[in-house]
Amino acid sequence: MSRALVDLCPLLLPQVCRIIAAGQQGHALDLRIIDTLRSPLEQEDNLARGVSWTKNSLHLPQKECPECKGLSHAVDLAPRELLSHKLWAPRSQLWERLGDLGEREGLEWGGNWPNHPDPAHLQLPPWYSPPDATEAPPGSSSNPVA
Ligand SMILES: [Zn+2]
Ligand SMILES: [Zn+2]
Repeated sequence: MSRALVDLCPLLLPQVCRIIAAGQQGHALDLRIIDTLRSPLEQEDNLARGVSWTKNSLHLPQKECPECKGLSHAVDLAPRELLSHKLWAPRSQLWERLGDLGEREGLEWGGNWPNHPDPAHLQLPPWYSPPDATEAPPGSSSNPVA
């Protein structure tokens, strides 16, 4: 299990850095990185222990992604002050604050999942696609809805 930011897809890394910085600058949210990339074996182990519920976790190497070819599209972050609480105080308002910051960056927040809410979890939305720089030839008139 990795906690390294370099194991995040470059499509996700800038948002995560901004979320951590925003938390420190004025949102009174000191975020710690819990988990970035997981190996398939580690995910099997998490399933067996009941702390994860999906075989398609975006923490697994996203080999189909042309941008990262096998890095994580998800990150788990936790407010440092909750780590000493039982079960990380799942009802704390600090989680909502983390969710707000994540959604403001266009990420999907696990705290909104109906079946197994996972308030530490942020991920690239499945429909996310990188801006296509080849779409308009340079010098062509800009068409914002293209
Ligand atoms: Zn990727
Ligand atoms: Zn997660």
